[in-house]
Amino acid sequence: MSHGDTSLDSADLSTLTDRQQAWFTTTRGPVSVRRYARYSDFVRAAVRSGNGRDRAALLTFHPGGYPLAPAWLAAVAEAAPATADHHSPSASMVSVRLLARMTPDHRNGIPRQSDGSVGWSIPGASARVWPDGRIMLRGSTGTEFAGRLEGAQWDHWKVAAVADAGLRLLCAPEARHLTSTGQPSGWYRPSDRGQIGEGRERKGGQVYDGTTTARCSCGWNVTVPSQLGAREAAKRHRQEATGGAPA
Ligand SMILES: [Zn+2]
Repeated sequence: MSHGDTSLDSADLSTLTDRQQAWFTTTRGPVSVRRYARYSDFVRAAVRSGNGRDRAALLTFHPGGYPLAPAWLAAVAEAAPATADHHSPSASMVSVRLLARMTPDHRNGIPRQSDGSVGWSIPGASARVWPDGRIMLRGSTGTEFAGRLEGAQWDHWKVAAVADAGLRLLCAPEARHLTSTGQPSGWYRPSDRGQIGEGRERKGGQVYDGTTTARCSCGWNVTVPSQLGAREAAKRHRQEATGGAPA
């Protein structure tokens, strides 16, 4: 076993021999990887929490996933909580789905299975997360990222970040720009905002504020004065980002 200083970014998991364990550094805690190649070929990777001591995730990869695994493991390490106990995550799976950026909109609600898991799919990839910390991300070419996030310190935001990072690697190119348009700010009383004066539309002394934010799974976002404007901006962003093909 070597406590190497190799950065995970440049790791090639296929060069490990049977039962060889390697340690990699990330911007956060270290990640240890062990390959089993004798009977069937797979890699087990343990991601440490921010303090470098507790195990925050145990993940499994098969050969098809070796090229993309280092990038995802680095993202898991980045999102990992500072400490990790052996309990299930505190994250609500519905909230994970609501926070995930690599997801279509939630117009049809968020169906939960009887085991409490929540799943969704985007072009080229799908995700499922379970309350006990299990996570499964699948690319349509057969690549799988699977394993378990460990510790109650995994909250909705952290689990969503892990799912997003994996789906971003596995998805089809057109899914890298999934836009959503939020709700307008809505009716408010000018006095609540310390304003005096005229509003364009009045309803019982209230003024309408159409300010709406549009977001994209790539991180782009814009806030404009109307929901219609936000929808237009999202459409334009999608067209520009995907090379001009109208949606
Ligand atoms: Zn985008």
